[in-house]
Amino acid sequence: MNTSPSADTAPFSPQSAPLPVPQPVPSSVPQTHGAHQVAQTGIMRPSPVLSARGLLQSYGTGGTTTRALDGVDLDIARADSLAVMGPSGCGKTTLLHILAGILTPTSGTVLHEGTDLASLGDRRRTRLRRSDFGFVFQDGQLLPELTALENVILPRMLGGTSRRAATAEAASWLDRLGLSGMHDRRPTQLSGGQAQRVAIARALAGRPSVVFADEPTGALDQATGQSVLQILADSCRDNGAALVMVTHDAQVAAACRRTVTMQDGRIAQEFVRPAATAGTTGSHRTDGATR
Ligand code: ADP
Ligand code: MG
Repeated sequence: MNTSPSADTAPFSPQSAPLPVPQPVPSSVPQTHGAHQVAQTGIMRPSPVLSARGLLQSYGTGGTTTRALDGVDLDIARADSLAVMGPSGCGKTTLLHILAGILTPTSGTVLHEGTDLASLGDRRRTRLRRSDFGFVFQDGQLLPELTALENVILPRMLGGTSRRAATAEAASWLDRLGLSGMHDRRPTQLSGGQAQRVAIARALAGRPSVVFADEPTGALDQATGQSVLQILADSCRDNGAALVMVTHDAQVAAACRRTVTMQDGRIAQEFVRPAATAGTTGSHRTDGATR
């Protein structure tokens, strides 16, 4: 488990990139878990796929304690996309790891489709991660000795899918992501963008309910990163998977419908982009002010 600070070395600059027309969200994060929530407008919202309440996370003991999360509440709906932004060390990776059940919080709860992750034993939590969650990390983390196809089928086979079914599935995902003809290449024979597309195929092949991505374009040049990002966001949406993505890059965050900004272990702000503009670039700041 890696909960060390991520390699997000670039300075955090939320206004460095143009963003779509924003919709500042008043304090609308619901304060209770529930099967359905009725918004102030009276519209029924689907129950969230992930729901976190009162997350606290401290690292270390005694005088050297670091409070990485300091009271985070968050709901994530099916097929929705959420970018988590903020400066290095503000708790983004810690939050992602807790939402994904990789790390158990010091206190607070995470419900996945109504099930408290803490109520599952280690084995069931591991099974849940395999069957319901997909992961895309900064450098893809493909196994170097395996081909692109083998990298995609391995987790499926570990989850109990037959090699034959997993191979058909993986081949179809790689083709959909523009990698036909590259199934037999090893990671060293792929460009950074191609390797990240293999990682996306691997994350989506199990038809997860949530895909977690931590700085997924951090190792790519900007144009490649942007295209990989769009593929990731579109693939998640088209397959009904929620996307939770950590990034310190506002342009990367613009691929997501929602953005929360963290500061010192708390969610400081939340913005929602109109559906029509999510994934495109616009010319307005996220805080509603015009340039
Ligand atoms: P971010 O992803 O926003 O850079 P992290 O969640 O990695 O932030 O870290 C939040 C804070 O917790 C930082 O101060 C970091 O140094 C600390 N931290 C993270 N992981 C550990 C750990 N395993 N042990 C001790 N401190 C940690
Ligand atoms: Mg990080």
